[in-house]
Amino acid sequence: MSRVYNFAAGPAVLPEEVLREAADEMLDYRGCGMSVMEMSHRSKVFDDIIKEAEKDLREVMGIPDNYKVLFLQGGASQQFAAVPMNLMKNRKAGYVVTGQWAKKAFQEAKIYGEAVELASSADETFSYIPDCSDLPITDDMDYVYITENNTIYGTKYHTLPNTKGKTLVADVSSCFLSEPVDVTKYGVIYGGVQKNIGPAGVVIVIAREDLITDDVLPGTPTMLKWKIQADNDSLYNTPPCYGIYICGKVFKWLKNMGGLEEMKRRNEKKAKILYDYLDESKMFKGTVRKEDRSLMNVPFITGDADLDAKFVKEAEAAGFVNLKGHRTVGGMRASIYNAMPYEGVEKLIEFMKAFEKNN
Ligand SMILES: *Cc1c(COP(=O)(O)O)cnc(C)c1O
Repeated sequence: MSRVYNFAAGPAVLPEEVLREAADEMLDYRGCGMSVMEMSHRSKVFDDIIKEAEKDLREVMGIPDNYKVLFLQGGASQQFAAVPMNLMKNRKAGYVVTGQWAKKAFQEAKIYGEAVELASSADETFSYIPDCSDLPITDDMDYVYITENNTIYGTKYHTLPNTKGKTLVADVSSCFLSEPVDVTKYGVIYGGVQKNIGPAGVVIVIAREDLITDDVLPGTPTMLKWKIQADNDSLYNTPPCYGIYICGKVFKWLKNMGGLEEMKRRNEKKAKILYDYLDESKMFKGTVRKEDRSLMNVPFITGDADLDAKFVKEAEAAGFVNLKGHRTVGGMRASIYNAMPYEGVEKLIEFMKAFEKNN
């Protein structure tokens, strides 16, 4: 068996310890005689799995009691619709457009009400986070929406927007659990887990209780009502059981490692060596304004599409896979999520240095 260094943006690398544990439990989960994939979601065993996953997530993130945690399906993209359906009481909301995922969420919201673009970084191919200290937020807006880490462009909000008292809703898919967060600054935090937590198929929604009501837009499907999901502890229908089980293991892995403070320290250390190299390299350069750089997704280019392609190909042959940039951006992107070990980044840099020397 040999494992590669996987720099995929998502689905992405998972901690090897977690995968080994899951492998050990595959045929017989703790004496049940069956795998977690085969058991009823109404069983006591699975109930313990989902409850423990929630407890550990609450502990790791410091989620206050007045927030609900939902484990749902449909990915982050389905929440692009669920957010306005559950929150648009006045049918108006503000969106900061910092990339393709933000744009998709913004366009989806327009189906349900008046979605207003508060700011955008489209003018410079989303290579920065716009100034959000004084956005044109009006009193009748139900919420302010951001994509906190822009997976494709490699930008991250290092300061949250001034929402002028309005509820902040954040898609944190690609920075989930990468560093400590103050949950109380948000009304809703949500993300697909396949970037930084677990396997595709689970989306986690963390929402303040007062925002979870029966007062949703007419026509909201039952499955998209947060209230229904919360009242049923994410077990209204069959949840993505196996995915939740793996997420639970990742929460324990994070706890054992020292939690989000320690994760942040590791992520900063990893990202720093890569950005430092990009800043000194004559061949490779980062594409993002320095102060807005993401710790998770690092896009870079040589400036020559043929050379980019050659690099990606040779890197892959050397065991550094999925470095090709997003199809709409080109160049390269190294996603260095929680589970990417430090030596993976170190070795990638060595490889880049050798490539630079030889080309
Ligand atoms: C990947 C991604 C999405 C889309 O997630 P799906 O689970 O595929 O719907 C949305 N937002 C961000 C920030 C992402 O990185």
